[in-house]
Amino acid sequence: MMSVATALLLLSAVGTLAADWRYPTPGPDGSVGSPENWGGSCDHGRRQSPIDIAYAASVRGSYPEFIFDSYDSLPDSAYIVNNGHTVQINLDSSASSSVYGGGFRSKYVLEQLHFHWSSEHTIEDRRYALEMHLVHRQSRYASVEQASSHKAGIAVLAVLFHVDEHPNEAIQLILNSTSPIKAKVDDRQPLRGSLHLNDLLPKDRTVYFRYEGSLTTPVCAESVVWTVFPESLPISLGQVQDFMTIHDADNRTLVVNYRPVQPLNTRVLVLVSDTEVEASGARRIASGMFAAVLLSLAISLF
Ligand SMILES: [Zn+2]
Repeated sequence: MMSVATALLLLSAVGTLAADWRYPTPGPDGSVGSPENWGGSCDHGRRQSPIDIAYAASVRGSYPEFIFDSYDSLPDSAYIVNNGHTVQINLDSSASSSVYGGGFRSKYVLEQLHFHWSSEHTIEDRRYALEMHLVHRQSRYASVEQASSHKAGIAVLAVLFHVDEHPNEAIQLILNSTSPIKAKVDDRQPLRGSLHLNDLLPKDRTVYFRYEGSLTTPVCAESVVWTVFPESLPISLGQVQDFMTIHDADNRTLVVNYRPVQPLNTRVLVLVSDTEVEASGARRIASGMFAAVLLSLAISLF
C-alpha cells in the first residue's frame, strides 16, 4: 500500500491543481512575499501579472474612450461567494454588462468581480490597501475558462483603493453581504442592497495603464489584457481590516491574498491619457507662440 509520504510526493510531482492552491502563509514576523510554487506558467511564464507600474517604463498611448454597456446596476441574480481565496460577486451567464472601446478589439462581457488585499499591482513601488478586479471574457467565448486559453481572451479592469478617513459606501454594501459567509467557503449569498458599479470605478476613465499579462491565480494563463487605473478610490482602515478577517478553505484568516509583482520583461506598458487635455494643452502652446511672434514683430517695427 502507498505510504502517505509517497502519496504526497506524487501529488507535488503532479503539480498544484487549479482548485487546490494556497497563498503562502505570512511568516511569524508578519512578512509576506515568499514564493508561491504554484507550478506551470505561474513559475515559468514570461508575461505574468501583477507588475509594478513605473511611469518611466511606460510609453504614451491614445485609444478611443471606454464604452460601458448595461454596466451600472448588477442583475438580481448576482450573488456573492467566499471561494477561499477572495470574496467574489458572480454574474449570471446571461448577464449583459459589457465594455468596449478603450483599445479593445472586440466586446468583453463582465463575468465576476473580486478583491485582493493589499493591492496586487503597485504604482512606483507603492502598494494600495485594496484592489478590485472586474473580470471580463471576450464575447465570442462561452466562459472565462474557455477564454483563458486564447490570447486577449480575458480583459480585467483593475481599480485601486487608498485608505481614507471615511468608509466607502459601495464597499460597505459588499462587506455587509460577505459577513454571513466570512467563514463559509463556497457558500453563496444574495447582495444586500443594490450595488452600482459606477460607484466602484474612478471618475476619470480616460487615463489608465494597459499591458498584456496573466491571471494572478493558478493556472496564471497569459491571456489577459490588463487595464489599471491610476486614480484610486477611498476606503476606511476599518473596512480593509474587515476583508482581512475572511477565512480560507483551511478555516484560517486570509490575512493577505495578493501575488507579488512579476518582471515586465520585454512587454510594452502603455500609459493611455486623455487626448482632449493633450490637444487643448497643445493649443495653449501654439497660441503662446503666436503672441510671441506678434510681440517680436511689434518690437521690430519700433
Ligand atoms: Zn484578481
